[in-house]
Order: sequence, then structure tokens, then C-alpha cells
Amino acid sequence: MKTAAGKTGAAAEKTAAGKKKGTRKKTALTKDEKIRKELALEVIERLKKEYPIAECTLDYEKAWQLLVSVRLAAQCTDARVDQITPLLYEKFPDVAALAAAEPEEIEEIVRPCGLGRSKARDISACMRVLHDQYDDHVPETFEELLALPGVGRKSANLIMGDVFGKPAIVTDTHCIRLCNLIGLVDNIKEPAKVERELWKIIPPEEGNDLCHRFVHHGRAVCVARHPRCGACCLRDICRHGRTTMEE
Ligand code: SF4
Repeated sequence: MKTAAGKTGAAAEKTAAGKKKGTRKKTALTKDEKIRKELALEVIERLKKEYPIAECTLDYEKAWQLLVSVRLAAQCTDARVDQITPLLYEKFPDVAALAAAEPEEIEEIVRPCGLGRSKARDISACMRVLHDQYDDHVPETFEELLALPGVGRKSANLIMGDVFGKPAIVTDTHCIRLCNLIGLVDNIKEPAKVERELWKIIPPEEGNDLCHRFVHHGRAVCVARHPRCGACCLRDICRHGRTTMEE
């Protein structure tokens, strides 16, 4: 997972949000959606075999740390974030310490992740809300998470799935790219819209792990500039992969 929505992006995502999680209705699938659901189930099975372990690539021990990491990961690699967060937690070991810190103090440490000022500002504001309203805990509902400073749908989904083990679909850059290439969505780039389409065709309990596997596959095989279709376990069922078989 490489990026997280910033405050502006998060606000936009919030307004573009699909239906609330607890209230999502089941509607009959169209013929096209049924076909894409079949495809999704096959993709899930194959990627499970390819990547038996589906884990977040950001290091964290506590829920609030994942909130911090996912904000730092905007336009930054997970590896860089994982280098920086131990320094941050050495100086500010808990929510209360981060909430009490000035944003400038946080910025000093997180600057190597890029966008230091806005990330520090969001982290500070978010930790202050956790401290003031949630007794230093991370709230457990999607809507409460989404209301936190700097937290967009992608980050909220990640927390729901990884921390609370609830159904989640994290539409990061890998997920969006792979879903379009494979044919699970059709030329849709907007994260909230991709998420909405995927909710229709992916079993809720599979979403979170599938998105982690998309990240692994997007790094190992389906790399951004030159997908290695010849080495891909999805080639015969992938929309783009099949075109390369005909060459
Ligand atoms: S077949 Fe090619 S485009 Fe499709 S998922 Fe595999 S690497 Fe990506």
C-alpha cells in the first residue's frame, strides 16, 4: 500500500462515498456484474495460492500507529514510512504524547516522507481527536474513522480490515490498476467508484486480503510500467493478459 488520502482528498472521497457499510443493500447483479463476480472469485483463489500470506506492508503494533503510518504513506513508499515511524514513536510513544506535540515537532521527524507539513498537521489533529474524544483509542466504526482528520475511505477501510477484522476494500493505486487491467472494473480510476463496484462482486470477507494480495502482485509481477504477463498466474483470465497471449 503506497498512498493514503490527504485531508483534501479525504474530504473529496467522503463526499463521493458509496453507501454506508452497515446499510449496504444487496441488489440483483446485472449480467455483466455476474461475469465479473465469477472472474473475481477465480482471481481470489489464484492469488491466495500465489501469496498465502496477505499482510499489510506497513509496520505497526497498535491501531493508532497504523493510522499514523497510512497518513505518512501518501506519495511515499511503505519502506520509507517503516524507517521513519520508529523514530517518531521513540520520541512520542503513545497517543497522548503525539497529541501533546506541536505539529512542527512531528514535521521535523516525518519530513523525509514528503508533504511533511500537511502530514504532521493531520497526524497532530487526528491524535488530538483520539485523545480528547476516544480515550486514546481508535474508534471502531467506519463513519467515526472517516470523520478523523486526514482519514479517507481507503485509510478507514484499511483500519476496519486489518485492525478490526471487518469487511473492507482498500482501493489504493495497485488495486485500481490491477482491477482495470484484469477486467474487474471497466476504465474506472476514481477510488470511491472502484470500491463501490468491487463491493458488488467480491465476497465481503475476502476484500481485505484480496487488496493486500493486489499490492503483493502489483509489486512482484503486475508492475506498473511493464506488467510481466508471461509470468502471471492470472494471464489466461486477465483482460489485458489475454491480449498479450494473442501477440
Ligand atoms: S496478466 Fe499481466 S496485466 Fe494481467 S494481472 Fe497479470 S501481469 Fe497484470
